[in-house]
Amino acid sequence: MGSDDCLFCRIVRGEIPADIVAEGDSWLAFRDIQPQAPVHVLVIPRRHVEGVGSLGEEDRDLAGELLFAAAQVARSEGIAETGYRAVTNVGERAGQSVFHLHVHVLGGRRMRWPPG
Ligand code: 5GP
Ligand code: ZN
Repeated sequence: MGSDDCLFCRIVRGEIPADIVAEGDSWLAFRDIQPQAPVHVLVIPRRHVEGVGSLGEEDRDLAGELLFAAAQVARSEGIAETGYRAVTNVGERAGQSVFHLHVHVLGGRRMRWPPG
């Protein structure tokens, strides 16, 4: 899918509204429309990357920035102390439904492990 009709690219471009909680030069963090926990934020790169498996050598910095941003969001959302998940699904069988890389930051309740 090209970035023209990618849902998260459209959010980056401001074509679709989102509840943005934080942003950086290379990333955006906004609330999931269907939260699975009291805090459920998605951290995405501004640039279209399908998923973790599509990161290239040139994306090493970006990969670190996304994870660092996830930790930053967890702190500002007040779940850093109580614990949280930073998850990224890769592929349809793993639960990926939007093919623009995103890190789910989930917390505010006890998280079960292993996931289903
Ligand atoms: P995935 O299933 O690909 O790991 O996660 C995609 C996430 O995007 C889901 O948790 C879903 O609820 C969320 N999502 C889908 N469409 C929208 C939308 O239009 N706005 C927001 N904020 N989240 C969305
Ligand atoms: Zn995209």
